[in-house]
Amino acid sequence: MWWKDKVTILKGIGAKKAEELAAVGIFTVGDLLEYYPRQGAYLDYSRLKKIKELDMDGTKQVFRGEVYGVRNGYGSSRRAYTVVTVRDETGYANLYFFMGQRYAAKKLKNGMELIITGRVRPGRTQAKSVSEVTVQAADEENHAPGIVPVYALAGNLTQNNLRKWVAEALKLAQQELPESLPQNIVEECHLQNRLTALQNIHFPISWEALAQAKHRFVFEELFLLQCGLLYYRQQSHDSREGIKHGADGTLLKEIIANLPFVLTPQQQKAWQEISLDMQDKKPMHRILQGDVGSGKTVISALALAKAKENGYQSCIMAPTEILATQHYQTLTEYLEPFGVHVGLLTGGMRTKARRNLLLELELGMIDVLVGTHALLEEDVRFANLSLAVTDEQHRFGVEQRARLANKSQNAPDVLVMTATPIPRTLALTVYGDLDISVMKGRPPGRKPVQTLCYTDERRREVYAGMVRQVKAGRQVYVVCPLIEHSEAMEAHSAENVFAELKADFLQDIPCALLHGRLKGAEKEAIMEAFAAGEIKVLVSTTVIEVGVNVPNATLMIIENAERFGLAQLHQLRGRVGRGSEQSYCVLLTSADNPDSLARLQVLHDSEDGFYLAEKDLELRGVGQLFGLRQHGLPDLRIADIMRDTETIIEVRRLAQRQLQRPNAWQELRALVDMQFGGRFGMIFNT
Ligand code: ADP
Ligand code: MG
Repeated sequence: MWWKDKVTILKGIGAKKAEELAAVGIFTVGDLLEYYPRQGAYLDYSRLKKIKELDMDGTKQVFRGEVYGVRNGYGSSRRAYTVVTVRDETGYANLYFFMGQRYAAKKLKNGMELIITGRVRPGRTQAKSVSEVTVQAADEENHAPGIVPVYALAGNLTQNNLRKWVAEALKLAQQELPESLPQNIVEECHLQNRLTALQNIHFPISWEALAQAKHRFVFEELFLLQCGLLYYRQQSHDSREGIKHGADGTLLKEIIANLPFVLTPQQQKAWQEISLDMQDKKPMHRILQGDVGSGKTVISALALAKAKENGYQSCIMAPTEILATQHYQTLTEYLEPFGVHVGLLTGGMRTKARRNLLLELELGMIDVLVGTHALLEEDVRFANLSLAVTDEQHRFGVEQRARLANKSQNAPDVLVMTATPIPRTLALTVYGDLDISVMKGRPPGRKPVQTLCYTDERRREVYAGMVRQVKAGRQVYVVCPLIEHSEAMEAHSAENVFAELKADFLQDIPCALLHGRLKGAEKEAIMEAFAAGEIKVLVSTTVIEVGVNVPNATLMIIENAERFGLAQLHQLRGRVGRGSEQSYCVLLTSADNPDSLARLQVLHDSEDGFYLAEKDLELRGVGQLFGLRQHGLPDLRIADIMRDTETIIEVRRLAQRQLQRPNAWQELRALVDMQFGGRFGMIFNT
């Protein structure tokens, strides 16, 4: 079918143009038709505004203007920009171009007539200020009536090129275009058929038709994603029998009674849910979502003990050696006194020790195996595994989780722990039919971390405060966005900060530098020395982001805080405030633009990871933070997990129902593969 043919079959596309299209990911005619206009970027020539009429509330608008001046400048953190002033008979507007976009501005000359789209706000002078600008020569448009698409461009491609070729491709579609959703769904949900939707997403006959076309493609993408997820999950769930654990017995009662604290109501509820799942014949598939410091580890300890109580083995996998080691220590403390044997398997182990450990595992002498990815290796064999826990799951792919679960004849119970607060809609999409337990807040007796935000001018004061904390017997983290100095990025590097501090504030204070390029053993030695209190100040990159628990650390200084996402800052901050002392987090920033400062202010105001995650999504978009790829899923082309909540809920129900029809998967599989380029099955068929 023509859909898969190279773009060169279209009139006007030769080898050269094909190469340029390839640079934006378009290889086939189908790719071209799926190269939808940029989000919201259509020009409506039937209603071009005058500059004076533009709304200044930051919404995207289209207007016409003549270039009146071009100049370059530097903004905060010496970020270069180009400003282009345009005018019409009613007023002036300044168009701001940053970074890569400055290229587009360079081509502009005084007197050129432009069609401009962008977000308009009041400017500092009379001229209005326009950001996220796209421009094109007005004459290019003379022939184009009504609503016209605006595509993302690269190289020498022009809007006219793309419009012409897409129109060509649509002619092919008119002759032959199979539906990409089940017919019953299209009818029942009153969706535009595929051809109509394709035509309208490129050349809408009205705004209403465009909205419907978009809805149809969002629906399609989410529906097929959900069908694929549900199908493959069903497969992996139902092919093997689950393991039924008994009700909590003496071992568990003893462990719980001997904990140094009382479980919070949130923890009790989570434990009850997990415990009941484990007692069910059906394999557990549960995710335990708890904010940093909410006390997930003890809950996992109970689950692991429950496996032992029922005569089974269990394992827990962590993303780094440091974390695995820490879990090993904690679990040993909780469990060994009650006769539960805990083992540790990491990548760096010596051959002989490793061989012994694996032998003990096969003989059933080890009850709980803690480890890193090393657990996934072929020769790691359990005698009878009934529970697989993964910690900080967003670092593992779906595939790895499945490989772990495959280490048992029967389907083991699976518990996924994550500190990333995932908004519910995303969880529904990513985890399909996983059950969710949520623990919010933190255990009692721990004071909230005080968060302060300073500009770089006050760094030395902050460092002096650091020395005071150390003198008071506490420990400090200093986190930097980079390992070493970089020309490309104006930010403090861990190496520089470390050298600077060592020569000055930290002359007589034991300190160390930690980053991802150190060997595993080196990192571990440093972390251990820090945990033992031998090292007082740890200068590091974000390698300490996940899970590390040093209750005596009471101050975290984050350099260039504007470079991090809110959720990430929150994770980092979670490393302090783990003991009974008051803890502080100081955000240093060189940014002086109000947006960055407002963003950091949110962190000052809230310690609720879920709230911050939602805010981060709002401010930075879903791609930044929760790239679906991290979860082992394909990226979405047009759907937006935050925006399309209602559709997600609707398609989930429909997908469940559709899959129950006889031979449903035969039809759906082809559609799912077409939508996701066949990548889907690969992920799940492991
Ligand atoms: P996370 O959810 O980040 O993994 P941890 O399990 O590491 O959190 O727990 C953080 C700290 O809180 C640990 O020092 C742990 O001993 C403590 N803790 C856990 N549960 C409670 C509780 N119910 N009461 C008091 N302290 C608790
Ligand atoms: Mg943890």
